[in-house]
Amino acid sequence: MGQYDVIVIGGGPAGYTAALYCARAALSTLVLEAMAPGGQMGTTDQIDNYPGFADGINGFELAMNMQKQAERFGAESVFAQVSSMDLKGPEKKIYTEEGDTYTCHAVILALGASPRELGLPEERTLRGRGVSYCATCDGMFYKEKTVVVVGGGDTAAADTVFLSKICKKIYLVHRRDTLRASKAYLKPLEACENVEFVWDSVVEAILADGNVTGVRVKNKKTGETREIACDGIFVAVGNIPNTALVADAVKLTPNGYIDAGETTETNLPGVFAAGDVRQKVLRQVVTAVADGAVASHMAEEYLSGI
Ligand code: NAP
Repeated sequence: MGQYDVIVIGGGPAGYTAALYCARAALSTLVLEAMAPGGQMGTTDQIDNYPGFADGINGFELAMNMQKQAERFGAESVFAQVSSMDLKGPEKKIYTEEGDTYTCHAVILALGASPRELGLPEERTLRGRGVSYCATCDGMFYKEKTVVVVGGGDTAAADTVFLSKICKKIYLVHRRDTLRASKAYLKPLEACENVEFVWDSVVEAILADGNVTGVRVKNKKTGETREIACDGIFVAVGNIPNTALVADAVKLTPNGYIDAGETTETNLPGVFAAGDVRQKVLRQVVTAVADGAVASHMAEEYLSGI
């Protein structure tokens, strides 16, 4: 319960940067976060493309530092799941599943994105029993075991490199014959002797006896199917923006992101969108923190005008 100048929804890099800037601007600031600080960054083992860390940094460590830094200037954090929001009027109301209500005059939506599922019928029941969406969280369960990674982007590439140091064997299954991942990952990937690429292929079924025992993949070019025995499958096929809570209130783009430009302003006065949830060309920690700074600047301007 409480009244603030600004409430930031989401404690990832965009959210905690917005909170840092708001707090330093002497605005009373609350961050509402459902899980742990960091969002997707918090589950990334090694971040090498965020400037200032010559040897890279662990994502969770960076997240904890961002939280601490914002709190040093007076930002508050509450770990609670937001259940609904009333964003339309000048006074914004945020309700949590715990039954608390928070009010403010400006809201920064730093809701992030969540891993996309493959959409296979058995996928959800096998979650935690061999199906994972987070290699850094679950990789150690597969020490000296065989796993499949699905996807061809930065996440799949980073997960494969990470898992290659833990697992006996990794099959990287990608639906095309080239990776989408940035070149920075290609050399480390090629150096992994325990990685086998399964090109032009999709996972048709996850095989299980209660726990994952393998996958059936289909080669899209030849139509051939093949079973690969494995102990786990890491799904890394992109993300879906977390807009369920705001889809009725805030304008979205056709592909589901919040329709806000570089100023982070949404269609609603006093409501700003920052980080991966916003329509943008590049989703990285560095662009998320930039959004957080801009959103706090815009919120400050908005508050000074009401
Ligand atoms: P992504 O770039 O959207 O890549 C998703 C991959 O999954 C693509 O290769 C795509 O295939 C494949 N895919 C999508 N749907 C599929 C399906 N239903 N079945 C099989 N394959 C499917 O997602 P991401 O790798 O998670 O990256 C998301 C964002 O985070 C990107 O902006 C990325 O740069 C960023 N990121 C950055 C870093 C880093 O810089 N260190 C690390 C991780 C993520 P196609 O290639 O055929 O489309």
